[in-house]
Amino acid sequence: MLLKFPPSVPDNQKRDLTSQILDWCLTNGVVFENSDKPGNGLNVPVTLFPTPFSRHGYKNAIELQVLYNSLYHAVFKHPEFVIEQLSQLKEDEFTMKLLSIYENCSKRRTQNLTGGVFRSDYIVDKSRNSGEEGRQIKQVEFNTVSVSFGALSSKVTELHKFLAETAKTSVHGEVPVSKSLRDIAKGLATMHSAYGCQQAILLFVTQPNETNVMDQRLLEYELYREYGIISVRATLEQIHRKTTIGEQNRLIFIPTGAEISVVYYRAGYAPHEYATAADWTARERLEGSHAIQCPSIMTQLIGTKKIQQVLTKPGVIEQLQPNLTNTEIELIRKTFVGLWPLDETDLGKEGQKLAMQSPEKFVLKPQREGGGNNIYKKDIVKHLENIGHENWSSYVLMELIDPPKISNTILRNGDLVTGRVVSELGVFGTVLWDIEANKELMNNQAGFLLRTKTQKSNEGGIAAGFGCLDAVLLLSSR
Ligand code: ADP
Ligand code: MG
Repeated sequence: MLLKFPPSVPDNQKRDLTSQILDWCLTNGVVFENSDKPGNGLNVPVTLFPTPFSRHGYKNAIELQVLYNSLYHAVFKHPEFVIEQLSQLKEDEFTMKLLSIYENCSKRRTQNLTGGVFRSDYIVDKSRNSGEEGRQIKQVEFNTVSVSFGALSSKVTELHKFLAETAKTSVHGEVPVSKSLRDIAKGLATMHSAYGCQQAILLFVTQPNETNVMDQRLLEYELYREYGIISVRATLEQIHRKTTIGEQNRLIFIPTGAEISVVYYRAGYAPHEYATAADWTARERLEGSHAIQCPSIMTQLIGTKKIQQVLTKPGVIEQLQPNLTNTEIELIRKTFVGLWPLDETDLGKEGQKLAMQSPEKFVLKPQREGGGNNIYKKDIVKHLENIGHENWSSYVLMELIDPPKISNTILRNGDLVTGRVVSELGVFGTVLWDIEANKELMNNQAGFLLRTKTQKSNEGGIAAGFGCLDAVLLLSSR
């Protein structure tokens, strides 16, 4: 099928390439923080070569981002629709708690602007070839909270471009560089500027014991270098102690007395992060304050798998966005695979039957983010039997995407592992919405990310040890 890939390189050349990659990564901050030894970095796993990716699929994903940003704005503009859909998840305590904070805070909202740094993830599907155009990309999910690897993706794509162009790898083809570090920082700076107080600071909400720190720090440094914007980092627990609400509902960072313009969440999406009542109090304080939320709770909730499933139902996009052209709707719809609820509606009953009768074709997803939560193939039946029927409606059932067969070599902890891999392309988007005027003030595509995992693993958690960062190699016109 494809050209011989990865290129066969003699062992001594591989050793040289490995040491060049490790040096590049250390020099450019492509490291995780070593939690055992603070201040020490561990190389982030990366591929030895950029992975071939359908040119049509890549272009398509990049172009789709502004359409997807607008589609999610259309969902956001209809909170009653979102609430009705999420009411199916009443057994999901976490979603219900977020919804109740949304309701409390929307009554006393003073800030009209709300932001987002999004990422739409795709896998190329080999069984659905769209003829002339080549391979079709299918959407895995649309992320609206705490999307990561924007900064490190810029660095890793630069690395692979450097290696290809200086003939250090025998790779021939185009290796595009992701501008995600620059573009996400620009998106956050636009939010800061719209807040209208130059000396205000940005707040990064972070997880305790975060290891993917450099991916966040690089954004912090870019915000300062390019825009003179100062950022602080705090966990929900620290936010509870270190912030207060000042005059005119302003959010104040107590240690310096600075006003906070934008709350940028790199945390707050998982139930375990709200271990104490103080963590929830902190989230509610942020949400109810005058600072621009990136994202607000409603924006976080429209990123649930439930909403992704509802959007695939015929007629829903048309109802939410009556002004879209048929071509635009078709472009979006082409990225969908089958998604079913498991509730008591007709569609839900169909989903239940499919799950029980042919689980090997599906992945079962709860309303969770961050990896490691999905149930695959034959495990689905056992899982559904165990959780009790009343909890089924908190899940969606999704058709598995069938990726093309490609091999590459992954460099992890100094070891090289060659084998079949699956790559997932994420495209970043930055948005700023005016809630009162129902307007999109910013709608940008903001670079991309390629993550690659060994084919054997169902999921590609990079820190968890299954996946790695990669770059796109565009080989031909297909
Ligand atoms: P999370 O919010 O936990 O990241 P995802 O929906 O992105 O959940 O799923 C996690 C991973 O599982 C994806 O990165 C992908 O590798 C795999 N996956 C999810 N859905 C599918 C699918 N429909 N087909 C194939 N792989 C999938
Ligand atoms: Mg994901």
